Amino acid sequence: MSVFSHSAYDNHEQVAFYSDAKSGLRAIIAIHNTNLGPSLGGCRMWPYVDDNEALNDVLRLSRGMTYKSAMAGLKLGGGKSVIIGDPHQHKTPALLHAMGDFLNTLNGRYITAEDSGTSVEDMKIISENTKNVSGVNAHSVHGGDPSPSTASGVFVGLKAAVQHRWGSADLKGMKVALQGVGNVGFRLAKLLKEAGAELFISDIFTDNVNRAVTELGATAVSSEEIFDLDVDLFAPCAMGAVLNDETIARLQAKVIAGASNNQLAEPRHAASLRDKGILYAPDYVINAGGIIDVYYQQQSEYTLGQVTEHIDTIGSTLQEVFQRADETGATTAEVADRVAEERFGGAIH
Ligand code: NAD
Repeated sequence: MSVFSHSAYDNHEQVAFYSDAKSGLRAIIAIHNTNLGPSLGGCRMWPYVDDNEALNDVLRLSRGMTYKSAMAGLKLGGGKSVIIGDPHQHKTPALLHAMGDFLNTLNGRYITAEDSGTSVEDMKIISENTKNVSGVNAHSVHGGDPSPSTASGVFVGLKAAVQHRWGSADLKGMKVALQGVGNVGFRLAKLLKEAGAELFISDIFTDNVNRAVTELGATAVSSEEIFDLDVDLFAPCAMGAVLNDETIARLQAKVIAGASNNQLAEPRHAASLRDKGILYAPDYVINAGGIIDVYYQQQSEYTLGQVTEHIDTIGSTLQEVFQRADETGATTAEVADRVAEERFGGAIH
């Protein structure tokens, strides 16, 4: 396993490995960049097939956090952590406490929060051993869970994209294909429904499909059909790499605006979307509501109004990105990367 010469290393400031034989913890923390402030990013727990897969994941994710926070105008750097193990089998209070010990070794250069495989409850247990945890503030709107703020931010960004594409942000009668109606997707679906959009949803978890159909009157389609629908918008809210050669050829939507991280299978797919006349809202710009929420939870004093106001800036940031892309001919993803790099003073190419 190479580290410094790893293809995803990209000038990381620090990568730390930690193991605790007693609890079975094996974890990696990657700190990509701290130019703008301490690094903040979630802690993912996943049964990685090997160490290399875990390292690859944490490096890619922590770099993404630098760009996301810079674009969201936060005084934060980018970092991420992964715990190697099955969250349903290997997660114990002792393991989470050991993760807290690991965090303490970095003296606040990295702050963690919930991610796939970890919950608000897990963060509370980690916080018994360290103060370098966010997303546990019981006074926040949802007891620490950033998902509702992520959904609000995606909704704001989606409206900005609709405004740019059609000259009006009115969603009434718009047809939306939404993939994944989990924590973020379901809330986004609710906001879309309230705004008068017509919803087509897919999810591999039947309970989540049923909830969206029963509570929101959404039309359920299969996981494959979701790419073939004659709709105005596509909102990916499930997993990454969803925009690839195969799916882009099938998509009929004119706007892509969703919560998933790493939506483009490869950077070149941003150009495929542009060439097909599809407006793509870069993932880390539109899904920053959660990191904004978690940032405020770290502050000693803040109001909910401040959080909402900050989340609303996702709309104007995206408008700028769309406009610059139109003016320069660059893809929206390239423009977002350049703006973020200007902000954190990074990226040596
Ligand atoms: P979640 O696990 O609550 O929901 C994801 C849903 O997608 C689940 O219901 C799952 O069954 C479904 N799904 C998985 N594979 C699918 C497939 N092939 N087709 C259809 N449905 C599928 O996760 P979440 O918190 O709602 O996050 C959704 C996405 O947004 C993830 O990519 C996540 O990384 C990203 N994101 C989340 C947040 C947040 O605050 N939760 C913040 C930023 C980005």
